[in-house]
Amino acid sequence: MNYQIDKIREDFPILGRTVYGKPLVYLDNGATTQKPRCVVDAMTEEYYNVNANVHRGVHFLSQRATDLHEQSRETVRKFINAHSTNEIVFTRGTTESINLVATCFGDGCMDEGDEVIVSEMEHHSNIVSWQLVAQRKGIKLRVIPINDEGKLCLEEYEKLFNEHTKIVSVTQVSNVLGTVNPVKEVVRIAHKHNVPVLVDGAQSTPHFAVDVQDIDCDFFAFSGHKIYGPTGIGVLYGKEKWLDRIPPYMGGGEMIKNVSFEKTTFNELPFKFEAGTPDYIATTGLAKALDYVSKLGMDNILAHEQELTRYAIEQMNQIEGMKIFGPSASERDAVISFQVGDIHHLDLGTLLDRLGIAIRTGHHCAEPLMHRLGIQGTARASFGLYNTKEEIDILVTGIERIKKMF
Ligand code: PLP
Repeated sequence: MNYQIDKIREDFPILGRTVYGKPLVYLDNGATTQKPRCVVDAMTEEYYNVNANVHRGVHFLSQRATDLHEQSRETVRKFINAHSTNEIVFTRGTTESINLVATCFGDGCMDEGDEVIVSEMEHHSNIVSWQLVAQRKGIKLRVIPINDEGKLCLEEYEKLFNEHTKIVSVTQVSNVLGTVNPVKEVVRIAHKHNVPVLVDGAQSTPHFAVDVQDIDCDFFAFSGHKIYGPTGIGVLYGKEKWLDRIPPYMGGGEMIKNVSFEKTTFNELPFKFEAGTPDYIATTGLAKALDYVSKLGMDNILAHEQELTRYAIEQMNQIEGMKIFGPSASERDAVISFQVGDIHHLDLGTLLDRLGIAIRTGHHCAEPLMHRLGIQGTARASFGLYNTKEEIDILVTGIERIKKMF
């Protein structure tokens, strides 16, 4: 495999900095990833040389900015293998994409007493957005339980369907357990009951190739900043038949065809869901990031991160009192949530930080999962395409050092 990690790391200027005098070891990629120079450069270049509002202008710059923006949509389409750019809606991120579906699908396709199926391992964004619909419309949340290994109980899932089930909304990868869910099977079962599925791809898209046509999901959400792109930009993929059927999310410019005080008609897809000036600079950055990971090869990134994860679990398990949550190394993604003896996760994170090691601590926006696991929180190390085994050694040595202090 031609994966030149030293060269790759040079693309990310921040990785060369120190923290408290120690080289930065950035292991918080599940929260957000660092940006390669090409992403920042492309955005700066557009601000300096192209900037103009998109879609509405007849002048040179506006047309150039519109071209860049729409080319970015095509890059996203290709990246997830959507059928058409009409199915690619730009949002602010996974959270907004899920809220869009919950709100619009809830308004257009659900009535009091109807049900949405989510899972016990969801991020709050895939729970609370449905709870808001529940409060407004009297729908109910049904929950797929997980087993002790941290995997979805598919037999229980199938039992949740009834005539009130209107949609299923599940994550492809757990941001806590690293579990890679069999979303294709989840979709197959739902479609047997004529129920559409939203897949949360926040933690999958940065780590392995996603093909929405192969999964056959009806909606798919992901965030730019978790896949080496800028903050504030994300994607909602939706099959045209569903995007046509559900009402718009927000009203304003761009999303209309004609407006009068009596009647407004809406723009065609995907613009019906893109009210207001889009973040066209961020879409350029997102497209650059997708080009960057595509050039490295998603399969190469996956192989590199799987090797790191396997190595990390092996090394971390040598530490006395180490408890790692989630399935075995071969069945998980590049995220490891752990506890060490009775050291509080916050103490662990704070002391590791002093050694230059950035990890995340707490409930990871998954409180219901914490309840299921019977814990308050964990420490979490999550890897990206630029991490190395040496960094894992530094983490392990750091944990050993902290253990001696307690
Ligand atoms: N879903 C999952 C599984 C996540 O891990 C996250 C963020 O950590 C989100 C949704 C929300 O993503 P964002 O904050 O980018 O909208």
